Amino acid sequence: MATQGFDLAIVGLGLIGSGATRHAAIAGVGSVVGIGPSEPVDWATHDGPFASHYDSGRITRRLDAKREWAVLAARAIDQYPIIEAASGIRFHDPCGLMFVRNDEAGIANQRAVADQLDIPITIEGSEQRRASLPHLHFPDGYTTLHEPAPAGAVDPRKLVAAQLSAARNAGAATVDDVVEQIETIDNAFHLTLRSSAEPIVASKVIVAAGAYGNSLLPSTHLAAAVRPEAIVKGEVSEETARSLEMPSFIYLLDNDLLDDVYVVPPTKYPDGKWYIKIGGSRAGAAAVADANDLSGWMQGNTAEEQIDAMRDVLTSVLADVEFISWSAKPCLITDTTSDLPFVDMVAPGLTAVFGGNGHAAKSSDALGALAATLAIEGRWTDAELDASAFAAVHGTYQPPTGSRHGN
Ligand SMILES: Cc1cc2nc3c(=O)[nH]c(=O)nc-3n(C[C@H](O)[C@H](O)[C@H](O)COP(=O)(O)OP(=O)(O)OC[C@H]3O[C@@H](n4cnc5c(N)ncnc54)[C@H](O)[C@@H]3O)c2cc1C
Repeated sequence: MATQGFDLAIVGLGLIGSGATRHAAIAGVGSVVGIGPSEPVDWATHDGPFASHYDSGRITRRLDAKREWAVLAARAIDQYPIIEAASGIRFHDPCGLMFVRNDEAGIANQRAVADQLDIPITIEGSEQRRASLPHLHFPDGYTTLHEPAPAGAVDPRKLVAAQLSAARNAGAATVDDVVEQIETIDNAFHLTLRSSAEPIVASKVIVAAGAYGNSLLPSTHLAAAVRPEAIVKGEVSEETARSLEMPSFIYLLDNDLLDDVYVVPPTKYPDGKWYIKIGGSRAGAAAVADANDLSGWMQGNTAEEQIDAMRDVLTSVLADVEFISWSAKPCLITDTTSDLPFVDMVAPGLTAVFGGNGHAAKSSDALGALAATLAIEGRWTDAELDASAFAAVHGTYQPPTGSRHGN
């Protein structure tokens, strides 16, 4: 028997779902509930869904080769101080961002978007940049594109906590549980929970379940694929962390194993230690085959196999920095062919928002806002972004034909 009726339920309280919950609550057009499990304590034995945000560092920037990502990031970054003030949780480090690349087409695309959206970047060769950023050693002949604050980094765990705190302050309910199934009964959605015999009933639903989005959509499958990616962390002393002035950076390097790497400056993690984080796209990395494969990757320690390659890159760029230890964690990327997330109504009253393509943390608040508005209004109302760019594609994921690296 169902006990609770809500106007809107958001399934998945990760980066996008927590943002959607806050925006829906602020809109004040009815009762809102967000449902999703908190981070598991023991990943090796955890038998529920994992997330793509169990970490403390994500790059934030407006600079992008794709206009849509730049618009979304600009909107989200504008909201950071509002979310921090509403929650009392600080998650944003405006340390700046730098792209380092030598591909003419990618540089031209980024310059065009920066011009179009008035993003104040400075462009210099890697040789000239050494004068202002002496800690960073890139090979000669690269172009560096630097975006100043508020670009930099966000702490994704703290961003989720801040969004949920602000959402609750605005009147939303939150439930720490896993949704097993979404069914339509008598024109209402019945959400079966793992830990309760009683479903949650809602008039409208947003599915914001990241890598698990497809598993929750009744009778349709969107063309997305989940890719394993590793996070490698180099521990530094607090003294090094506090003295090392550097921006976040994304480096399209010449490397047999890695197509690109991204680096987040020293960040204090929940264990009280400081780490510089590096991750990147492995050339030819395959998608996970199924749910077992996905759980196996997240529960296991194969991410550690990537430490050597990442350490080689980080210690060559930060050649003067003394590292204390190295560790790695698994993570999940949900890809779409368009390189943009799906934000679409896939059935009457049912909105899907997932497919972050490895870029959605910084823009998650804006994606949550798009989904919340679509669910509440029942139609696309955004004048600046075209619905077709975010339209659901049903069926099997097709890898994109060109390179997507280094947006
Ligand atoms: C290694 C790595 C580095 C990245 N670096 C960056 C970066 O520098 N900058 C950037 O902008 N982005 C970055 N990203 C991408 C970004 O983290 C993701 O795009 C973002 O987390 C996607 O948000 P989401 O809400 O779709 O998914 P998630 O954050 O994964 O949230 C989905 C939520 O759904 C929940 N869920 C799943 N199934 C269920 C269910 N059945 N019932 C209830 N809840 C459920 C999960 O528990 C989870 O909390 C990175 C990603 C990875 C993996």
